[in-house]
Amino acid sequence: MSNTHLFRHALLPAGWAENVLLRVENGVIAEVRSGLAGGHGIALPGMPNLHSHAFQRAMAGHVERRGAEQDSFWTWRTLMYKLALSMSPDDVQDAATLAFVEMLEGGFTSVAEFHYLHHAPDGTPYHDIGEMAARLAAAAEAAGIELLLLPVFYAHAGFGGAAPAPEQRRFVSSLDGYTKLYERCGALAPSGVAPHSLRAATMPEVKALAELAGSRPVHIHIAEQVAEVEACLGFCGQRPVEHLLDNAPVGPNWCLVHATHITPDEATAMAATGAVAGLCPVTEANLGDGIFPAQHFSGTWGVGSDSNVLIDPARELQMLEYSQRLARRARNVMASPGEPATATALYQAAVAGGAQALGLQGGLRPGAPASFVTLDGETPELALSQSVFCARQPAVRDVWVRGRQVVAQGRHALAQTARLRFDAMVNRLV
Ligand code: ZN
Repeated sequence: MSNTHLFRHALLPAGWAENVLLRVENGVIAEVRSGLAGGHGIALPGMPNLHSHAFQRAMAGHVERRGAEQDSFWTWRTLMYKLALSMSPDDVQDAATLAFVEMLEGGFTSVAEFHYLHHAPDGTPYHDIGEMAARLAAAAEAAGIELLLLPVFYAHAGFGGAAPAPEQRRFVSSLDGYTKLYERCGALAPSGVAPHSLRAATMPEVKALAELAGSRPVHIHIAEQVAEVEACLGFCGQRPVEHLLDNAPVGPNWCLVHATHITPDEATAMAATGAVAGLCPVTEANLGDGIFPAQHFSGTWGVGSDSNVLIDPARELQMLEYSQRLARRARNVMASPGEPATATALYQAAVAGGAQALGLQGGLRPGAPASFVTLDGETPELALSQSVFCARQPAVRDVWVRGRQVVAQGRHALAQTARLRFDAMVNRLV
């Protein structure tokens, strides 16, 4: 199946180009040619979402009241565990369907689902060990988003192999059980491995998972919270990123999610591995995690919607730039000498890093997935800048994933039914 699209402007890996023809064959870009007359609209490559927990979409807005004591990431986590213990496979599918529809409406065209809600509420595996993963795959299929399934290995409640807590029972696997789950996930969708964190997986377990993955993606939460850094120092005398880089075969197929609390030396060492920094600026702000030290990091990065409290790639890029501005009291800090337009520089970097983290080819280039979005406007740099810094809702108009149009005029065909099912589910649970 072959078709062509002709755009007035398109953001190619080398920058903005005019009158660009994309020829698509079987969902892949077969040819990119510029200089043809008659194109209209502004095309951007679809944004990969490198980190999501779809089920957490059900919590959005419900956890913004202060409790009796000071609220923190850890009090939020207690509420998240409560929700996780209450959700059925149908509930997870309903939450994921809405989350994926919203991702597409915002311009995310692929998602790495960091999936740890595996087992039945009493902690025993479902008859199909991949029951919950199958629900995520079904939601992705219905919405039309490209999915990378990252079944999470979770075995401990703290550094040094501490026994898991009872409220973590739906997440917990042995290495043997995990291998079965990983194989099952691989039959459902492209997959990678995900040791949850150095709190939940010991270093020998992390290394065993990396071996299982081979060249497939390996994602891990790391250095999100100061308490985690302190616990790691207490356990081994090293900081989490330092400890990981010294002991595990971290390379370009790895994504280090958050990496918020890193020293300049850790930032340099991390960049040298070629691993992707998985930044989730909206969630990191919502949870009070901290600010990524971008000024020390010269490596690859992408963005993820993580807790899905708000789903919009433009807001992630805006929050990233604004948090850096606030911390450094400067403007346009994520622009580069090669790309002084800040929104364009942010967008190009996040597409490249996100694609690398998902094991995909990124950008509008031959061989890459035919996944792209359009913006309205005549001046492409300004339209993208306004979508990142000024838009009151996603500025994305039309969205194609692997050559198939899934959003038209800003709206996904499933938006209304997904919302109704989601609202009924949340009313029941919360
Ligand atoms: Zn996460």
